[in-house]
Amino acid sequence: MAASVVSSKQKWKEFFTRYYKPDIQQLAVSDAKSKSLTIEFQEIVKFDVRLSEELLKNPDKVIKDAEDAIPLVDLPVKRKVAAFVRVVRIPRKTQIRELRSSHINSFVSIEGTVRKITDVRPRIIVAAFECARCGNQIYLPQEGSGKFLEPSYCSCNEEKKGVFRLMFKESTFEDYQRIKIQESPEDLRGGEQPQTLDVNVNNDLSGVLTPGERVVVNGILRSVQKINKDGKTVYFEIYVDCNSLEFEEQEFDELEITPEEEETILKLAKDKDVFRKIIGSIAPSIYGYEEVKEAVALQLFSGVVKNLPDGTRIRGDIHVLLVGDPGIAKSQILRYVVNLAPRGVYASGKSASSAGLTAAAVKDDFDGSWTLEAGALVLADKGIAAVDEMDKMKSEDRSSLHEAMESQTISVAKAGILATLKCRCSLLGAANPKLGRFDAFENIAEQINMPPSLISRFDLIFILQDKPDEKRDSRIAGHILKSHYAGELGAHRTHNASSFVTDVAVKEAQSPILPEIDATLLRKYIAYAKRNVYPVMTDEARERITKFYLELRKPGEDKNSPIAVTARQLEGLVRLSEASARMRLSDRVNIEDVERTIAITMSSLKQVGTD
Ligand code: ADP
Ligand code: MG
Repeated sequence: MAASVVSSKQKWKEFFTRYYKPDIQQLAVSDAKSKSLTIEFQEIVKFDVRLSEELLKNPDKVIKDAEDAIPLVDLPVKRKVAAFVRVVRIPRKTQIRELRSSHINSFVSIEGTVRKITDVRPRIIVAAFECARCGNQIYLPQEGSGKFLEPSYCSCNEEKKGVFRLMFKESTFEDYQRIKIQESPEDLRGGEQPQTLDVNVNNDLSGVLTPGERVVVNGILRSVQKINKDGKTVYFEIYVDCNSLEFEEQEFDELEITPEEEETILKLAKDKDVFRKIIGSIAPSIYGYEEVKEAVALQLFSGVVKNLPDGTRIRGDIHVLLVGDPGIAKSQILRYVVNLAPRGVYASGKSASSAGLTAAAVKDDFDGSWTLEAGALVLADKGIAAVDEMDKMKSEDRSSLHEAMESQTISVAKAGILATLKCRCSLLGAANPKLGRFDAFENIAEQINMPPSLISRFDLIFILQDKPDEKRDSRIAGHILKSHYAGELGAHRTHNASSFVTDVAVKEAQSPILPEIDATLLRKYIAYAKRNVYPVMTDEARERITKFYLELRKPGEDKNSPIAVTARQLEGLVRLSEASARMRLSDRVNIEDVERTIAITMSSLKQVGTD
């Protein structure tokens, strides 16, 4: 046995000498308090496959051997180096929902979004005690138990329980933080609830994560026995002891576009019917609402974010609000968009989440410490947040949304927590009027319980009214009934429709009107556009926008409009035009894009106005 320990350490020594000598040299001369050596998993594989497999299966021992081997490496400077070994880029990822008992005590690599973080606190690793009778010192490792361990007897008297004094100076502490991650929106399809996982991070890894960030957590899966509040039932909880963190920076990283798909995308962009095709592929099972679908399409593509030389940032994301009577498919549209968007998060204004829509500092239910928790808009960073029932949201949300929608950040200052979180997402909101039905003659701000200042932050607002109209009603009825009937047929058809991969696509396969662009392709088309296309205005387009804006600004008949036309609307017009250019993958905003923007803005204003 002892021989194998030596050989494993020897292997590591050889590995480090071959691949990491300069890094270790660097650590040797550095004055950092807590040092880490980050190593690439692939390099271990290259060096010795069996060692890499052993690391995944038996990480506690293998990582300890590696850490013990660092000081054995021969360096030009004669200085002892102690460092944590952190392993990154493990090719095989495990989903939170796939974690099983077989993973316990093994090394796992998990992708997720940070939902919650606690403060960074010191934690005692080895407690030093002094016996009050003889002055003898006892060192007690505190690892893993979750409880504070104290000695009971000292060797000076083995019969009588001792009295001990904890000595802070001689004890060893480390920085420590608890994190909760959850499955990222892009890993969820078909309205699944994201699952969460607790992660312990320590030393130099603590204090580096922010809620809403996407990370890869590498570490050892642990299980602890817990006892229920009734004091009897025992259950197990899992968490990860974090070994290393990796950050995902690239937007839409997760969507791979093959060269063939790129060809299809480029061909589609040249189609003169591309607008109609895209709009027609959004919620095809919902009858009508052409303008809403067009607005949503523009929102999915979004405008271009602008960072001005003076440090100001103008959002590119487009916010859309749907207001209207119940039962007119608002929620349905929201759910559809969440499924379609490369990164969509659904939330309801009345949901009970303690973080609400933005973020909050909340008392942790576990140990009462303060934690910072991300809400829907933070979790939807770089994506789209569909917020239903906005009329029912909490008042704190209502006030924090102002900042969230415009500067796309959320500041939390509470209980000693000072943080600014990013929420660079577009918001698709839905609101029901307070009294059940929308009254065109009443003020909209009051009816949907939202201040005008907040309403004015939406680029487009649609008021959908359920006015009985025989012709339209019979068409909707036909449409709904047809989709129910086709659903039955579709159920059989999907058995061999293997080309439909996602849930959305399967749903669509069952709907009477097949979208012209299937959801998988449309999602990639959007990702491609947002990644590669940054349209700029042509002079012609700029002139047309200016002219329209000045017309809007003219003091007019419509004094009752709940939204004052300000420079904010001008920014909105630019965003919508850019989104329109992006929809056909054009890097120039032309006059047609502006005309489209004007048409949709007019139709939105009309309904918002006195109507
Ligand atoms: P809301 O959120 O506006 O109260 P829902 O989204 O819950 O309404 O819609 C209620 C039901 O009515 C849904 O099943 C929806 O599909 C159906 N429905 C309403 N209007 C339409 C329409 N124009 N086309 C298809 N289905 C519709
Ligand atoms: Mg609804």
